[in-house]
Amino acid sequence: LSDRLTETFKNLRTKGKLSASDVDGTVREIRRALLDADVSLDVVKQFTATVRERALSDEVNQALNPAQQVVQIVNEELIGILGGQQRRLEFAKNPPTVIMLAGLQGAGKTTLAGKLAKWLKKDGHTPMLVAADLQRPNAVTQLQVVGEQAGVPVFAPEPGNGVGNPVKVAKDAVKQAERQQYDVVVIDTAGRLGIDAELMKQASDIRKATNPDEVLFVIDAMIGQDAVNTAKAFQEGVDFTGVVLTKLDGDARGGAALSIASVTGRPIIFASTGEGLDDFEPFHPDRMASRILDLGDVLTLIEQAQQAFDEDEARKVAEKFATDSFTLDDFLKQMQQLKNMGSIKKMIGMLPGAGQMRQQLDQFDEGEVVRTEAIIQSMTPGERQNHKLLNGSRRLRIAKGSGMTVTDVNQLIQRFEQASKMMKTVAKGGVPNVPGMGPI
Ligand code: GDP
Ligand code: MG
Repeated sequence: LSDRLTETFKNLRTKGKLSASDVDGTVREIRRALLDADVSLDVVKQFTATVRERALSDEVNQALNPAQQVVQIVNEELIGILGGQQRRLEFAKNPPTVIMLAGLQGAGKTTLAGKLAKWLKKDGHTPMLVAADLQRPNAVTQLQVVGEQAGVPVFAPEPGNGVGNPVKVAKDAVKQAERQQYDVVVIDTAGRLGIDAELMKQASDIRKATNPDEVLFVIDAMIGQDAVNTAKAFQEGVDFTGVVLTKLDGDARGGAALSIASVTGRPIIFASTGEGLDDFEPFHPDRMASRILDLGDVLTLIEQAQQAFDEDEARKVAEKFATDSFTLDDFLKQMQQLKNMGSIKKMIGMLPGAGQMRQQLDQFDEGEVVRTEAIIQSMTPGERQNHKLLNGSRRLRIAKGSGMTVTDVNQLIQRFEQASKMMKTVAKGGVPNVPGMGPI
């Protein structure tokens, strides 16, 4: 997903004003990228229509260039669908707070019960887990294991008691929690491999019997296009107050998050990122938006680059290249602007998937900027304006003045000439650039 979008935004970034065809091209890429990320088609259609409309409207932010504006619109819309603000767990006014988990088999419910217990306990709560999955022989034991890991008690039916009734177990557990003053009850329920009427009824019955404060629908983020159907089925069959997205440590880009949030209108409350009990965190819509777009801190990156390398300036420089009036003074100024960006390598490090760029930057040596400064500052204004004046004796004088060798001076002039030549070519194509580097 990311590479293609990054590419699209990069193409936009080098352009001036945003035209309708730019917007259409970008929207087409966004559509394709979201579909690649397994966002459902209906959601994608709706999303891209909104982005297109906004990008073509008069909504203009003077502080941003057109590319930044599209990035911002896409980002804002994603965050909006994902719920905007972070949604916290609702606790009951009169404890115990009852949290019921529902979802397909293998979604990560039992694991989540342990994670929630540990997290709640750390937060000063006294949680109790309830084994209301009596479908699989191992389910109770599995919950007991995570309960032990989290250091919280597990309410389970007496062993050897036959198949047992999960609705009764859940109900009894809530009563016991009241008596023993546990303030949160987490009910683990059975799942099936697919959507199943009997299973839905059981979950729905548990819900009716325990009147939970939260019903969390747990879903594997890797489920892809099935996410929408599964979420809809659970919404109709059981209904839920929030969503927990699991296995976000895998390859899933989070397309499921967008589909589910959009189709059910329910907030995503937690994200699960691994098998361990600590691999778990409250869900942040803004972070997920970045993950879906894989923008990393691309906005920050653009802002920083923008400050250090003003676009007007770039255009003037491009003109100078084109007309052959680029001087060593300009060269120095460019170098200094690069230095102003602070540690460029660190900055690029914020950009996911920028491997190639990072390689180019590894070759960029900030020490070289300092040496270039020293040499050019040892030149006379006339020499800086016209490097052709620099004969052997002048080069020797400059080397001595700057504490460098004549070879250093020669190399600098050579680089300057190469850069001028290269940039002249590039400038004819209308793309401003920075000497000695590829486009940022
Ligand atoms: P349940 O059937 O819904 O109760 O699912 P389980 O809690 O038994 O989890 C099914 C499998 O997924 C187990 O092997 C878990 O260790 C694993 N699992 C659960 N959550 C995550 C997660 O966030 N990331 C990864 N990688 N694995 C997970
Ligand atoms: Mg389970």
